[in-house]
Amino acid sequence: MSFRKAIWFATAALLLLAGSASLFAQENYRAARKLFWSGKFDECARLCRSEMQFGSDPEEWFELLIECHLATGQIAESAELIETASLSLPNSIRILWLARQTARLAGDDRTALEIVMELEDRIRYRGWRYRDVSGRLVQASFALEARVDAKLILDELLTPARAMAPDDHRVWLAIGDLALAKNDFGMAADNYRKAIELEPENPAGHIGLAKAFRSSDPEKANESLNKALAINSAFIPALLYLVDDRISAERYDEAGELIERVLEVNPIESTAWSFAAVIAHLNNDPDREKTCRDNALGRWLSNPEVDHLIGKKLSQKYRFAEGARCQRRALLCDPEYLPAKIQLANDLLRLGNDEEGWKLAREVYETDSYNVVAYNLVTLGDEMSKFSVIDRDGFIVRMDPVESQLFGDRVIDVLIRAREKLSQKYGMEVARPVFVEIFPQQKDFAIRTFGLPGGQGFLGVCFGNVITMNSPTSRASGSSNWESVLWHEFCHVVTLQKTGNKMPRWLSEGISVYEELQENPEWGQVMTPRYRSMIMEGQLTPVSSLSSAFLAPPDPEHLQFAYYESALVVRFLIERHGLETFRLMLDDLGTGMPINDVLGRRTGGIELLDREFAEYAGKLAQETGKGIDWTKPEPEQIATLNGCRDWNARHPDNWFGLRAEAGLLIQNENFDEAEPLAKRLAVLWPEYRAADNAWALQALIARSRGDVDGEIEMLIRSTAVLTTDTASLRRLLPLLAERQRWDDVVKFAWKLLAVDPIDKSGCEFLAQAFEEKADFVGAARALRQLTLLDPVDPAGTRLRYAIALKNTGDRKNARRQLLECLEEAPRYEDAHKMLLELASDESLESSGDPDSGR
Ligand SMILES: [Zn+2]
Repeated sequence: MSFRKAIWFATAALLLLAGSASLFAQENYRAARKLFWSGKFDECARLCRSEMQFGSDPEEWFELLIECHLATGQIAESAELIETASLSLPNSIRILWLARQTARLAGDDRTALEIVMELEDRIRYRGWRYRDVSGRLVQASFALEARVDAKLILDELLTPARAMAPDDHRVWLAIGDLALAKNDFGMAADNYRKAIELEPENPAGHIGLAKAFRSSDPEKANESLNKALAINSAFIPALLYLVDDRISAERYDEAGELIERVLEVNPIESTAWSFAAVIAHLNNDPDREKTCRDNALGRWLSNPEVDHLIGKKLSQKYRFAEGARCQRRALLCDPEYLPAKIQLANDLLRLGNDEEGWKLAREVYETDSYNVVAYNLVTLGDEMSKFSVIDRDGFIVRMDPVESQLFGDRVIDVLIRAREKLSQKYGMEVARPVFVEIFPQQKDFAIRTFGLPGGQGFLGVCFGNVITMNSPTSRASGSSNWESVLWHEFCHVVTLQKTGNKMPRWLSEGISVYEELQENPEWGQVMTPRYRSMIMEGQLTPVSSLSSAFLAPPDPEHLQFAYYESALVVRFLIERHGLETFRLMLDDLGTGMPINDVLGRRTGGIELLDREFAEYAGKLAQETGKGIDWTKPEPEQIATLNGCRDWNARHPDNWFGLRAEAGLLIQNENFDEAEPLAKRLAVLWPEYRAADNAWALQALIARSRGDVDGEIEMLIRSTAVLTTDTASLRRLLPLLAERQRWDDVVKFAWKLLAVDPIDKSGCEFLAQAFEEKADFVGAARALRQLTLLDPVDPAGTRLRYAIALKNTGDRKNARRQLLECLEEAPRYEDAHKMLLELASDESLESSGDPDSGR
């Protein structure tokens, strides 16, 4: 071996040794991190200490040990360790960052501030030192807190960090957190997924993914949550996620137990104490609330997050006024705390304080253009500034300008009627004004209502004195009756105001659906074959736990059933215990008493109530379609006419068999044979609410025979069980007009317009009927609507409008309409004639402008 070679070997051996030592240290570090991730903080700390004695990368080990102390709330120990670490690692910004956290938790605001200034200095003047991945991650956290634009943080710090170390899962986590903080759930999910792929044993990735899916896909969210808990069954972010859910589900006891588990790990965990304060607030226990809030703040008295979180959760519980107060308190701690600002903006918009709400949203957007909620709100604010405002009789209605001319008056009419009836019934003077906003675009409705797109399936929402609604012209409103939706939402105004928003969702919904049915038996929800079988199969939720039925229902049908059942409970309570007692229950709730205590107190015990209601609902289900054989055939058994006949011979009065056979016969135009079946179905279940109800079938049979009067009668009955059946209504109107039944034409035209307010034929028939009845006020209104709907004969419609106006004494506007008519058809003789008549009349005087609304 030559000398050279010897040197070479010696060097190689040394390198190998160093390599294996660092490999060994790396493995130890990963083992320690795993202990940390799995929540074994004591073991992790022991390993840190022993490694530190060996002197391997002190920064990493110091950092991890401090994190162990912080995770378990050992602030003094953390502070002590930081002192030691700062001596041996004076240049570490990782340690400095932890020192800042520790100083805050210790209530040492001055030191915390000094550290921030130090950090700024270092990044500014010695930035080159911190360009490694860890350094960039600290800088990103710091920049995010200093409210640097999120896009800038991403571009300048995190994207370069990712390029440097694409396999470092911490970078992906940091980008996920940044996106999540800005409600960019798609981007958050992508980054968390990648982080998990690189490091499946860090529960932070799984909980991040759970949060990203929380609102869009509860099942996936749950799966991720469970993965996090499988790694660490006391993983605090996962437990807090569950606490949040339990509070939403009104399961406060369970939430309390979970909070205890968090505090066992970290007795000063701020979020846990904040949630405890929320529960105390909801339980009407101000002393406990104060203690919990004090504990949440701990020594860091200027922490804005505590009040922000308490307020946000209260707002989720519809306590917007209290929520807004909390956000204002958070902003006193830190006037620039953006999450509190945007939440306050939303709260204020829900309280009807638009001016301040929009202003705040704009402020947040100007500071933080990556904030999705703020961006959406600001865009919506611009859109809504184009809306028309109708301010009449204690209502401020905002809607699309054209729509407002088409049915704005009717909206106010329905609201006034609802206020008269419901205020009196519930002994409640509704505070004025009530704000109603009607959106032609579902997206705008969702942003105004939920802050984010989504919420399909909601027709309207009420916040107390603000109602938001999908316009009936929007596809999102489907074939619903918008008048019933408005009635329902206004009823929420009454009950929420009566209880100071202190009522469970199920009861508020139950009363609203119940009141729809009271106002019009054709509205609201009624028993369906499916509901009937759900009740018979024991799927009724006990009254004492009805809140749960609204949370995470397995499918939309179950949610609908929850509404139906809630309304049935209200009906039962009022029937059995009287309206007066029911009103007293609402008063009790207003004092902050929990719902089950109220029910127990006013009905003679909650267990008894559960039992009695189950009996009541069971009986109702049994009596619905009494005499019907409910045996369910296999689909193929009733797929053909012969199959049906065979089945029905063996199963007389079978619901499925009869309907299938009648349907097939009508399809084959064998109306004579279909008739007795349709008649039998009408006897068995006359109120069955569906487009193919027994009356609709009989209408088709009558039509096939040219029996106009018979068809009219059956269509009237059919549209009484299914008020939203626009096809039947459109068929009915010309028949009624043919028979000159003008009162009925008015009635059914209104019914059609209550589903589709821009239906041209509905307006046309309404106008014609009013003209025939010489009701010129009504005719003028209908014709005004028709002129806006691009009528077949625009000039003729204008002339008719002018005639109606003249007959109401409004000559000025009559003249105006005639001039517009002649602009469309300059040689229209009748219009010229009428204009001359008007001109020759010297007593030309105005009697109000119809366009200003009545
Ligand atoms: Zn509702």
